[in-house]
Amino acid sequence: MNCREVNEYLDDLILGELSPEIEIKIHDHLETCASCGKELSAREAAAAFLRTGNTLTPESRLYTRIAQQLPQAERKPTGASSWPRTLAFATATFVLGIICMRAADVFIMNAKLTPTAEARYRPAFRAPFSDTVLFHAAPSKHLVKL
Ligand SMILES: [Zn+2]
Repeated sequence: MNCREVNEYLDDLILGELSPEIEIKIHDHLETCASCGKELSAREAAAAFLRTGNTLTPESRLYTRIAQQLPQAERKPTGASSWPRTLAFATATFVLGIICMRAADVFIMNAKLTPTAEARYRPAFRAPFSDTVLFHAAPSKHLVKL
């Protein structure tokens, strides 16, 4: 095993969750590698501290750093810029759409459209009224025997 592989297993080794074969390989590496042994000691110390249940008290400079960053986080935009960007974009698009539709209505209502094709009414051909029925135009099955 190399150092990277051993470092991946160190936490599991501390918790006792490794198989005996892998544990033996890790211990073989730890006998020859001082840096991995040092890392194991540090992690064992951290695990032992966590088991005690004690709490850590952060240094005062941590609170100072947090306080320095707070004004930037609390700054809230006001007015229209406080809207979510997508809502503002949707509203602007809606208003622009209404303006475009109204402009199209005004243009259509005021435009004097001239037809490009002229349609003229021409009455259908009407034969003069007659009592004569033209049987020759009807199919034979519709002919009536007189
Ligand atoms: Zn190592």
